[in-house]
Amino acid sequence: MGYNVAIDGPAGAGKSTIAKLVAQKKGYIYVDTGAMYRGLAIHFLDQGIQANETEKVILACQDAEVTIQYENGVQQVYLNGRNITSRLRDEEVGNMASVTSAIPQVRSKLLELQQNLARTQNVIMDGRDIGTCVLPNADVKVFLTASVQTRAKRRYDELCEKGIACDLKEIEADIEQRDHRDMTREIAPLKQAEDAVLVDSSRMTIEEVVDAIVKLCE
Ligand code: C5P
Repeated sequence: MGYNVAIDGPAGAGKSTIAKLVAQKKGYIYVDTGAMYRGLAIHFLDQGIQANETEKVILACQDAEVTIQYENGVQQVYLNGRNITSRLRDEEVGNMASVTSAIPQVRSKLLELQQNLARTQNVIMDGRDIGTCVLPNADVKVFLTASVQTRAKRRYDELCEKGIACDLKEIEADIEQRDHRDMTREIAPLKQAEDAVLVDSSRMTIEEVVDAIVKLCE
């Protein structure tokens, strides 16, 4: 068994930024499980399936193979042998992933892939259910959160920096909707594991959060 660090938390809490930096400092492999849900979402979109067409989603799962490779230490997601990493962050992909990740067949499809990655290597894995379901015996568990306003502002700044027009209130509403979906779904809802350390990054710098997590890994 590798050394396993689980980071869970709501959308926009900074999990991937923080996990990547901790991975660099500690020599762990960073596993972004959200990217796997997004990978499957691309498959559903490419088949012309709507997010609410649950039966079609379940059927489409049967001919979707999501695999992960690391190129220069960066996670690449393949869908049926095609590298689809550049499409993962598209807005429609995020929305599709947010809805379809509540379907049990979608989750079970990815569970084994996630657990296998952690079995033999030292990993820091981020998602919504890592500490509670995927790696219940992880060596370190962190629940990373921040206020809705903070998370929305971070996303707003990120989009503005890329020159993408956006509206702060709309982003806030979208984040609230995603939180609600993730926390209230029946299977593997987003919640803090009993043995997870709560880190609220609302008033912390990236370096402070990274240092706090690195300390937990010692
Ligand atoms: O973290 P990210 O926004 O990339 O995740 C995309 C979607 O996948 C989320 O909206 C969430 O609903 C879902 N997800 C999940 N469980 C995980 C990781 C992501 O349900 N472990």
